[in-house]
Amino acid sequence: MFPAEFDYERAESVSEGLDLLEQHADADVEILAGGHSLVPAMKTEGREPDVVVDLDVPALDAVNALDDRTVVGALTTYATVADSPAVRATVPLVAETASEVGDLQIRNRGTVGGNLAEAHPGADLPAAALASDATILLRNPDGKREVPVTDFFRGDGETAVERGELLTGVRFPHTDDAGVAYAKKTHPATGYAMVGVAAVVEMSGDGDDGTGGDGDEGTVSSARVAATGAVDRALRLPSVEDALAGEPLDPESIDAAAAEARADIDADRLRSDSYASGEFRGELLETYAARALERAAERVAGDAPTA
Ligand SMILES: Cc1cc2nc3c(=O)[nH]c(=O)nc-3n(C[C@H](O)[C@H](O)[C@H](O)COP(=O)(O)OP(=O)(O)OC[C@H]3O[C@@H](n4cnc5c(N)ncnc54)[C@H](O)[C@@H]3O)c2cc1C
Repeated sequence: MFPAEFDYERAESVSEGLDLLEQHADADVEILAGGHSLVPAMKTEGREPDVVVDLDVPALDAVNALDDRTVVGALTTYATVADSPAVRATVPLVAETASEVGDLQIRNRGTVGGNLAEAHPGADLPAAALASDATILLRNPDGKREVPVTDFFRGDGETAVERGELLTGVRFPHTDDAGVAYAKKTHPATGYAMVGVAAVVEMSGDGDDGTGGDGDEGTVSSARVAATGAVDRALRLPSVEDALAGEPLDPESIDAAAAEARADIDADRLRSDSYASGEFRGELLETYAARALERAAERVAGDAPTA
């Protein structure tokens, strides 16, 4: 299959990219990052941009770990993120999720920025970004714009990125001692998440219950739980988060919280296709919420390695 004809432009800096977007302001323009969504869509799904701007900006292929946050450039591949010692140490959920994307070829070419800008309903990184409380970094001709990830995803393929803007990176706050995990039911044909759940759970407790035993393992002081694959966009699951607050992270509280996973989603919003009905995706949502929380609990207890 061949794509329809298009004009090819190449940008070697963010400002060149913005200039090209401005020059072609009246055209249908796509950014070429890893190309692993765009190229198949142009070949087989009828996406026919007038212009493709190939973003070839080395500065956007970078991981920058600071004191309390790590910034990942838009052109950083999943493979780089998954293998980055800095990402693994500071935001292990992001490394773990990146390692779960597609297959080796996809991970070697697909980029963090492309994944978030494409906003596929079954993409993995949106769940990790939401559970991490990330901030999306954008550039436009007027300067910089930051969008909290909770305001970023608007629907299948729809985001807060405006015409003439480029996504330049993502800022992830460090998760320090939180228990984190991503649990995914992989689509058998594509590798996308039929349903995936990411969790970041912080505990309070001083580790000493005064009995001389294993100590006070504490209660949940904050939980962020986010799902992908279930509906047309990734979203947080506030009912699960609320159910965990103030509870110990034990099997009973995990089951009770996971049972709330469908509470914030109208049943008719659940995605349904030839692989899974909406009802089945709802079941997967509860199951994978429990799995993510169980793994996060093991990590809080220090029983399971993170990515
Ligand atoms: C067989 C297959 C299996 C896959 N499995 C998975 C999976 O398991 N999990 C998963 O999450 N994904 C999966 N994907 C999707 C893959 O991760 C893509 O790489 C990703 O969706 C897009 O990233 P990209 O860098 O390839 O972007 P591209 O394909 O180059 O671009 C995608 C879109 O984002 C826009 N864009 C890209 N970069 C920017 C930017 N910096 N600023 C503004 N707009 C931008 C483009 O205009 C385009 O519309 C799969 C894809 C294939 C083909």
